[in-house]
Amino acid sequence: MPYSYDDDNIFAKILRGEIPNDTVLETEHSLAFRDIRPQAPEHVLIIPKGKYVSFDHFAQEATAEEITDFTRAVGEVCRKLGVAPGAAGGGYRLISNAGRDGVQEVPHLHVHVLGGRVLGPMLAHPA
Ligand code: AMP
Repeated sequence: MPYSYDDDNIFAKILRGEIPNDTVLETEHSLAFRDIRPQAPEHVLIIPKGKYVSFDHFAQEATAEEITDFTRAVGEVCRKLGVAPGAAGGGYRLISNAGRDGVQEVPHLHVHVLGGRVLGPMLAHPA
C-alpha cells in the first residue's frame, strides 16, 4: 500500500514552527532536536524536512541530496553529542521505528540517537 503523509503529525508541526523544539542541528534538508521524553542521557531525533513516513518510504522516494544530507546529519549529531566512538565517545544506538510492529508513534521518519550510558540489550523482549 502506498504511503500517505499526515500533515497534522507533531513533527510536521515542529517543521512548520507551530510547536517549539530543542534544536541540536539544522541543515538544508534535515532537523535534529532533543526528544521530549529522553530515554538515555543523550536522546536526539533526526528528521528529514520532506514528507516521508518511514525509512523505507524515504529510501524509495527521497532525492540523493536529501539522503546524503540526512545521513550526514545523523553522523554530525553523534559527533556533536560526544558519543561517536571515532571521536573518543562511548558509542550510541540508532533506532527508527516504523509501522505497527515497529511501534511507531509519530508518522514522520525519525532516527533516534541514544547514548551517554551503556544501553543494554537491543530489545526488552527478544523473540
Ligand atoms: P516513535 O515511537 O519512534 O515514533 O517515537 C516518537 C518519539 O517522539 C518519542 O520518543 C517521543 O518522546 C518523541 N516526541 C513526541 N513529541 C515530541 C516533541 N514535541 N518534541 C520532541 N520529541 C517528541
